[in-house]
Amino acid sequence: MPGGALGPKAPEAPAADPRPNLVGMDRADMAAALAPFGVAPYRAGQVFQWVYNRGVTDFDAMTNLSKALRAELAERFRIDRLQVADARLSVDGTRKWLVRFADAQEAETVFIPEPDRGTLCVSSQIGCTLTCSFCHTGTQKLVRNLEPGEILGQLMLARDTLGEWPASQVDRRLTNIVMMGMGEPLYNFDNVKKALNIALDGEGVAISRRKITLSTSGVVPMIRRAGEEIGVMLAISLHAVRDEVRDVLVPINRKWPIAELLAACRDYPTINNARRITFEYVMLKGINDSDADARELARLLKGIPSKVNLIPFNPWPGSAYECSDDARIQRFADIVNRAGYVSTVRTPRGRDILAACGQLKSESVRERKSRAS
Ligand code: SAH
Ligand code: SF4
Repeated sequence: MPGGALGPKAPEAPAADPRPNLVGMDRADMAAALAPFGVAPYRAGQVFQWVYNRGVTDFDAMTNLSKALRAELAERFRIDRLQVADARLSVDGTRKWLVRFADAQEAETVFIPEPDRGTLCVSSQIGCTLTCSFCHTGTQKLVRNLEPGEILGQLMLARDTLGEWPASQVDRRLTNIVMMGMGEPLYNFDNVKKALNIALDGEGVAISRRKITLSTSGVVPMIRRAGEEIGVMLAISLHAVRDEVRDVLVPINRKWPIAELLAACRDYPTINNARRITFEYVMLKGINDSDADARELARLLKGIPSKVNLIPFNPWPGSAYECSDDARIQRFADIVNRAGYVSTVRTPRGRDILAACGQLKSESVRERKSRAS
């Protein structure tokens, strides 16, 4: 090489695999990708099933395809799994993964087993553009949206770990999905839509529509579209009953205040008494937890088939808030319950493995920084 002295050569990064990944493709994408290799649409449907319902990672396992076709597909495509940067298992059975994507960015996924169901909490973005003042993810800048394959990859990883292929087997532990990890799913609408429609597909990951919940901080113009184009259960991060308070806690409220948000909820297409909207409400000592707040909450929700989920605030280093006392939370719940709304208090899970929003990722970033210094 011409020019000055060369230092020691840095190790080269392994060349990126140029083969497209089938994980992340919906039925139409797969049919289009496979057609040039003589694969008829119904055969592409079989591949779809192998990938998402049977969970195979090796084309050779696709026994209803000819050997020659399997070999050809293996040369042209990948069926990838996400890399795991960290995996933890709590004493209460909660599992948390820090997943690493091809560009070395990381996000987290949490599995919460309960006696009657198992819920996977999935991330939709790396970081978040919004800056809710009580949320640790809100302190992390948005790096990028997750791709459909990266969102689905979190599901595939959980099924791999739990040994739950085929996805439609009875007695499976992973029964529910909540889009409540890092990020605002309605700001990554297209990718979340594609991933959830594959998750919903009976020949795909096969989770029923009623068992998938999308949580939004209140991106009002996208709420109706979410109902029409995805049709899953909706959760709203309400957290306050007065605009002055919500403006601080959930700053997107300055754009779309409480009245507009609730109007969008009333209009949500699939809403009825069997498919209620969940209103999430984080309990912050002295901020939003008074009896008057509870009564106002019940008043605001009048006419909306809803349930209330009270979330004890999960503190993080440097956060400006404290969690309300147990007795206060109970009293708040009683008032809301007496007004006719089911109100549940979320039990904190996996505290020993930092299973709260955004915490594992920040810990890993901190460790890396301290190793570097
Ligand atoms: N961005 C979406 C979904 C991800 S957050 C949203 O805001 O709805 C999932 C839920 O966890 C939201 O209700 C969020 O407000 C809540 N949350 C975030 N940080 C929290 C904390 N430190 N303690 C308790 N709940 C928190
Ligand atoms: Fe983003 Fe949701 Fe956290 Fe708000 S609560 S900063 S919208 S992840």
